[in-house]
Amino acid sequence: MKKILKILGIALLIVVLLFAALLGWSEHQRKTRAAERAAEPTKDPNELSFVVEDSAEPLEVPTSSQSRYSDLLLIFDAADYDLFFPPEHVTAADCKAVIQKNDAIPAQYKTLLSWFVDAIETHYPEADLRPLRYNLDTLEILEVSDRDLLFASLSADAYGCYIRTENRIYVKEGYEYVPHTWDYQVIIHEFGHAARMVQRDLDDVKVRVQALPPESGFTVIDEALNSLFAVSLFDYEEPDVAYQLQSNLFQILLECLDGVDAGDYLNHSIAWFARAFDRQNGDNNYAMSLFKLINAQYDDYHSEEIHRPQSVYYPIYDYVTKMYLDRYGRPDMTPEEKLAHVQELLDRLLFDVSDEYEIDTEEFFRFAEQYSCQGRGMPLPCFTTSAVSYSRRAARAPI
Ligand SMILES: [Zn+2]
Repeated sequence: MKKILKILGIALLIVVLLFAALLGWSEHQRKTRAAERAAEPTKDPNELSFVVEDSAEPLEVPTSSQSRYSDLLLIFDAADYDLFFPPEHVTAADCKAVIQKNDAIPAQYKTLLSWFVDAIETHYPEADLRPLRYNLDTLEILEVSDRDLLFASLSADAYGCYIRTENRIYVKEGYEYVPHTWDYQVIIHEFGHAARMVQRDLDDVKVRVQALPPESGFTVIDEALNSLFAVSLFDYEEPDVAYQLQSNLFQILLECLDGVDAGDYLNHSIAWFARAFDRQNGDNNYAMSLFKLINAQYDDYHSEEIHRPQSVYYPIYDYVTKMYLDRYGRPDMTPEEKLAHVQELLDRLLFDVSDEYEIDTEEFFRFAEQYSCQGRGMPLPCFTTSAVSYSRRAARAPI
């Protein structure tokens, strides 16, 4: 009996020792992992992955690119549409014939799409309609429930969305899209995507037609330009536009840019727009980094993890203020007159923009003063005290 007890005792001791060893080992593992984590530089989501500056590197504006290592053909500019589409001029009538033949487009959308192609031809006769006609051939417009639209668009308040991998537009079931409404500019925006981007995976080559550069960080620029292109087709003014802040910003920037309009979005790439801005502002390669910053601000607004100080975004505010003053300011203007322009700029830029963007409006005035003083060869401050009190009207109330 004693012997059995002894054996049991030893067995118990072994179990206890094994358990303690296991505990110690797992504790050691935990500490090691914690130490490894501490040694790893944690990526700060607030840090920008690029520098906003005028680069000495010349800006590349490719019209297409074909990778030597993959069978991917990217076409950015209508100048190279011949690489994929037959070399011909496609008219609105050609597009309408394709729309009529396509049974996957419900009647209401046949009418809307026909209006869309006519409006493009009227407003932008130079626009190359080949990508649009190509898509129209197999385009599907699917009327779905609110729930399915939410899944397709990943947005709770969507009225439609174009999925380019499917060449399909999801729309609200039983909904009628009528002019002068928010959802009307949404559906035309989705048509805009179908007119500007093609994705086709063929046996020997994958083709992508897009305004976006191959590197990431420009999505919201593409969206804003597409939004402006869509509402520019209307015969009425539509200030409520998708991607409101970025669309307001580009509305102003394009207005201040010579010889370029929203219709150029159909034929040209985002890099092409950047070059136009660089040329006018005497920069070498600055606009692309500014575009990335605009995109970063959009991500900041939509992300719980990102909250950058406003000063990070000053280059955007300074850029648009400079272009606005270059366009509307005169050298002989009084400081008060210049400040009134800044006021007007802010009213337009902030139209229907959420307060959560927390835009530091003071920077626009600070920059305007600095820029005006420099322009007159005067040291700061060159405005009179009354002029720099920056008393502002409240921005137009959001609708
Ligand atoms: Zn869009």
